Amino acid sequence: MGKRVLLLFPLPYQGHINPMLELAALLHSRGFSITIFHTTFNSIDSTKYPSYRFILVEDGEIANRFTSTVDDTVLRMIAWNNSCEQLFYDCLTSVLSEKNEEPNACLIMDMHWYNLQYLANRLRVPTLVLRTGSAATLNWFMTYPQLVQKGFIPVQESQRNMPVIELAPLRMGDLIRVDNCSHEVLRDLLTHEMDAIRTSSGVIVNTFDAIESTEVEKFQKAIPVPVFCIGPLHKFTPPARSSLLVPDHSCLEWLDTQVVGSVLYVSFGSLACMNYEEFIETAWGLANSDQPFVWVVRPGSILGKDEVDLPDGFIEATNGHGKIVSWSPQHEVLAHAAVGAFWTHNGWNSTLEAICEGVPMICRPQFADQMGNARYVTDVWKVGIILEGKLERGMIEKAIKRLMRDDEFGAEIRQRMRALKHEASLCIKSDGSSSINIDKLVNFISSF
Ligand code: UDP
Repeated sequence: MGKRVLLLFPLPYQGHINPMLELAALLHSRGFSITIFHTTFNSIDSTKYPSYRFILVEDGEIANRFTSTVDDTVLRMIAWNNSCEQLFYDCLTSVLSEKNEEPNACLIMDMHWYNLQYLANRLRVPTLVLRTGSAATLNWFMTYPQLVQKGFIPVQESQRNMPVIELAPLRMGDLIRVDNCSHEVLRDLLTHEMDAIRTSSGVIVNTFDAIESTEVEKFQKAIPVPVFCIGPLHKFTPPARSSLLVPDHSCLEWLDTQVVGSVLYVSFGSLACMNYEEFIETAWGLANSDQPFVWVVRPGSILGKDEVDLPDGFIEATNGHGKIVSWSPQHEVLAHAAVGAFWTHNGWNSTLEAICEGVPMICRPQFADQMGNARYVTDVWKVGIILEGKLERGMIEKAIKRLMRDDEFGAEIRQRMRALKHEASLCIKSDGSSSINIDKLVNFISSF
């Protein structure tokens, strides 16, 4: 008999593709055969993965209908779910109808492909849902419609600091939010996604028990399917080679020349943007801090600018102590001994990667789950500080100095971060919580 076929469908954004491909590598190493569905938009370079089979779901019209900005992510997601059904049905039925000796297929899809989960259910294909964000976000998503009903959302400016009783430690201002997407649209999307999860065979979460056991327990109580926490996925396999932009490795050589723990790494992920005024404040905040830095300025990440337009005098002011790249090999940067702190937007992957390498964070969340992730970093794990309000050079300089140079404050945070890093290293050992959960997951899939 052949190997069991796993059909994987990531949401085509960097922060979703990476964990899905890491999961693919993990399950492939356990003897499963891997088929990956991908879209025309942000299609995956299949040549990097010769052991897998790739099937293109040609979403041509949707690929072109929206911009690649954050503003359009939710609308694009909804359009995909509404319009890709037939396309996906054709791809899926064609794979399923192939004559082979292999046992039944199982579909593992990103939780945002809710309509396609229903479709798989109709075809009687078992589905597992991958949540690439934290376990806590599942509770936030589940509670969102109730908060809308109670009138708490949209959040009033005066209530931003009010605690959300149902979702401690979140404050109102931390609740999931995407500009350009109304709370009604978000509520309906999240309701669909939670309903789809309830009809799945199980949920896989890229997290680990030591940081989120309460959140997992809460979610597990509320839904009738098993939850498998098997993160941090990038620590179980070599990190995914699926970068949509080309990483500039010269920053690693530059880091080799810097003092241990002295460099601030600055990156806001694959989608977050800033306006030109914030960019200028960031530049001068970095320069004035006098702290060495590696700064990722992604093409298109400064609104209204095609080029990186640095302020006059910035190069001279930072001469020798700053390195700007358009995309970094982030895992390697965070693991580099010279890196002492990470100024991040708190996408979940970045947050998890920082925890795994024991790098304290300066948090500047922007949208979706980032504000909530930052709340956990600062108030629960207490391994970072947050930059709130209008971004301004003075506050940036102060935060960098506080985290990286204030011996008492910085040392306490670093100590907590070391403890968290240790927990992350324990969960991936053969008797660690995530390793045990991976074994359970493999047995579970084999039982279909
Ligand atoms: N990343 C990278 N190089 C960069 C910036 C980000 O490789 O210069 C990777 C990072 O390691 C992470 C992913 O891109 O795995 C971003 O995911 P995250 O969830 O942090 O944020 P998103 O891009 O989804 O907002």
